[in-house]
Amino acid sequence: MTQPIFDKILIANRGEIALRVIRACREMGIKSVAVHSTADSDAMHVRLADESVCIGPASSTQSYLNKAAIISACEITGAQAVHPGYGFLSENASFAQALQDHGITFIGPNAEHIRIMGDKITAKETAKALGIPVVPGSEGGVPDTETALKVAEEIGYPVIIKATAGGGGRGMKVAQNAGELEIAFRTARSESKAAFGNDEVYMEKYLQTPRHIEIQVFGDGRGKAVHLGERDCSLQRRHQKVFEEAPGPAITPQQRAEIGKVCAEAVAKINYIGAGTIEFLYENGEFYFIEMNTRLQVEHPVTEAIFGVDLVREQIRVASGLDMSFTQDDLVINGHAIEVRINAERLPDFAPRPGKVKTFHAPGGLGVRMDSALYGGYSIPPYYDSLIGKLIVHGRDRPEALARLRRALSELIIDGIETTMPLFDALLDDPAIQSGDYNIHWLEKWLARTYG
Ligand code: ADP
Repeated sequence: MTQPIFDKILIANRGEIALRVIRACREMGIKSVAVHSTADSDAMHVRLADESVCIGPASSTQSYLNKAAIISACEITGAQAVHPGYGFLSENASFAQALQDHGITFIGPNAEHIRIMGDKITAKETAKALGIPVVPGSEGGVPDTETALKVAEEIGYPVIIKATAGGGGRGMKVAQNAGELEIAFRTARSESKAAFGNDEVYMEKYLQTPRHIEIQVFGDGRGKAVHLGERDCSLQRRHQKVFEEAPGPAITPQQRAEIGKVCAEAVAKINYIGAGTIEFLYENGEFYFIEMNTRLQVEHPVTEAIFGVDLVREQIRVASGLDMSFTQDDLVINGHAIEVRINAERLPDFAPRPGKVKTFHAPGGLGVRMDSALYGGYSIPPYYDSLIGKLIVHGRDRPEALARLRRALSELIIDGIETTMPLFDALLDDPAIQSGDYNIHWLEKWLARTYG
């Protein structure tokens, strides 16, 4: 790139993802602005960005979720665009709209697409209309237990009750039979009211042993879109991803091409712009849509590794009106990549354990990438997500990636705090991980067996 696209981009996030965006900006010759809470004055993203603005106190509602403060920070610094990262305001349609109203570019899809996909019922209806296969379930929201019982009879038990406004795996309840349904229904409703301020729920057939397979899509906003294959994110604890890989060990090239084409065509039809992920449950050769995330995912680096592309750079390109730098034919898979998420948590109960990092040493060598905002002497504040690093490895094939992961983990040092690192050493010893034979329930069962 000879000429910068935007002069200056503000990053409305913190931690490793803020660093990720700052790095892309620097390579593109774009100045970066970090925003931070008072608890994050010493954070790495503040140190690495060209400029920084304090936008509020520690509580994220008053800082990283404070739209007015972020827009003011853009105006003070002259930032022309905002990259939201993931989480916080990344899927907030009114934030995208407010930026647009202020003449600032939101590096992400337009407010309307965020809105459609943010409401899970509308998302499912839209997906269906665009030719994407969905999980059998209720037509829209389920208002009361009588309706819930009727829907369950139709689709068959077990069923899962999910929050329309859901996210982060919260507000979901499974019922094995009619006896369990009433309580599950009421609990799901009250939990989603508490978590999302909205008690609308819907129902789906509960798939017994599916894999979580998600398709990365990318659109230019003018009717062109591509897919970048799948990621298998089946290894989850409490519906939270822990270990992700690409390509998926269970997916054939033909299946990838077919579902990828359906997804790319669907987003092309709506003139989708930027990165998106269409999430599926996959069982017995069939894909069932569960949701679409209209942002960059935490696990995007495994896709970057196997395709050799920089997704953040592409996001910035299309947001500025440029074409994507690749076509579908350019996107050829090279090897295998795995990401593990390292959290500041105590094993075996995964209780958050923020604190002061004494030593941080990142692994290196061929095919190793460490995305982390840690440094020796840094105090992890207790106010935010406990994700402190992502270790991504890339090999010529899956066995090489697994061996490289084991080797990289042996080099990684995070001293002074408890982390989930030991989990991965133990996981790598398991034959199911070695063979790639697992589903979305496998990790919970393994944790129960391993840690009791
Ligand atoms: P969230 O937005 O809260 O993450 P999702 O709809 O993406 O919710 O579902 C998260 C996880 O919950 C899935 O990866 C899967 O493990 C489980 N899940 C969701 N729907 C079903 C279903 N119909 N059958 C079985 N498991 C499901």
